[in-house]
Amino acid sequence: MHQAWHELQRELLRRTLEYAVEAVPFYKELARSREQLQLSDFPIVGRSDFSANLAAFLALDRFPDYVVISGGTTGGPAAVSFRILEEYEAAHEFFARQHRLATTPTATEFTLDIFFNTNGYTWRKPRGWPLLSIALEQRAHAELIRTMIVRGIPIDRKTTFARSLQAQAGPLRVLTGYFAAVGFSPAEYKIKSLLTYGGHVPEIWLRRLRQVWGTEVQTGYGLSEFGPGNAMECQYCGGYHYWTAWPEFLSLDEHLPVTNGDAWLVLTSLIPFVKVQPRIRYWTDDIVSVIGFCEHAKQVGFRFRGRGTSSVLAASTETTRRVLMSELDVVEVIEEFDQIGRRPHPSELQIWADRTVPLAPFPMGFPRFILKPTILDDHNTKIILQLEVNFDPYLHCSRAAELIERISEKLLRRITFAGKHTKATRASLEIQLFGPRLLPLYVKTST
Ligand SMILES: [Zn+2]
Repeated sequence: MHQAWHELQRELLRRTLEYAVEAVPFYKELARSREQLQLSDFPIVGRSDFSANLAAFLALDRFPDYVVISGGTTGGPAAVSFRILEEYEAAHEFFARQHRLATTPTATEFTLDIFFNTNGYTWRKPRGWPLLSIALEQRAHAELIRTMIVRGIPIDRKTTFARSLQAQAGPLRVLTGYFAAVGFSPAEYKIKSLLTYGGHVPEIWLRRLRQVWGTEVQTGYGLSEFGPGNAMECQYCGGYHYWTAWPEFLSLDEHLPVTNGDAWLVLTSLIPFVKVQPRIRYWTDDIVSVIGFCEHAKQVGFRFRGRGTSSVLAASTETTRRVLMSELDVVEVIEEFDQIGRRPHPSELQIWADRTVPLAPFPMGFPRFILKPTILDDHNTKIILQLEVNFDPYLHCSRAAELIERISEKLLRRITFAGKHTKATRASLEIQLFGPRLLPLYVKTST
């Protein structure tokens, strides 16, 4: 089956390039100077190109249905994507057909779709599809979800139960925390699958989710710019595979194609999943680890390694340049420390505004930190990690020193482990603590 997908993907790429030079002003201009454009003839374009020349990248022949906006929170350009409904329908049809997801509306089970804020994306499913979307904003929503799991809803005289779940990472944490707090265990109700997207899920959370929901957790990787399709985690190789976009993996230094190790991810959207704003060789600014060829999917699998801006690269003397430390390493280590300051998700704030709701047995928000990579020279890298804590580090300096020591030790162990075959790089780590609300960090809160 996957062989056929490859042929289809190649064909879609060919059609995408043809369409782009025909319909998109920026690419039309490019084609004037050259004939027979291959993918590698196209320039790599980034978010700032799109934001500076919005009209040049648009191929709208009718009024758009949505505009999806993400990012832009750190002063950089936001990712703006115009969309039409047909793009979502095409992506849905592709996956439904290939994965045989189709279930008739008379089935006795359905999927809950938990989200909070969709950045403008509102199409969630075709008509009649057994999936019910609920925006988790208040306690009443969480209670409705509980009812649908426990008692179900009657449809045509048959009771239909919520037995699988797809959810944004943020609301899923809140919902999981809420159920743990009120002593409700969805694991007792034979939940069949749990899919989460919109953020890296650290190991401690994977364990928690499996325990509370009683099912394996599948994660996805995606960018709002390529929204109608995400790369889903493969149960055979553990990596992600893209079917609705064309990925390229380029080495960190020279930007040459690689089949293994850490690499920049460059993506090309494919027709018909993206039509009104094609992105050819789009610089995602994400670094991924290519984990090798997957025999099942017949293509390479990759894992998200970190955003380019918050990844510390090993010094350039290494034969294969790689990520020394990224925000993922930091999150994996600090998630288990209760003293770390956290950014609560808006739905957490709303649910626990009611003081009678018992507290969750674990923190739900996202740790607040800034990772500042500094390359001193070819051999030395200095990593500054600024962490917010929930106490005053100046008043409680011995507590602060102890925390710094424990986190440094764990982080350096991760680096040493990852870098066992390299001698060229020396990395030093400096951890700075900030009291509550003192870390100058502005982040979006939707996912
Ligand atoms: Zn695979």
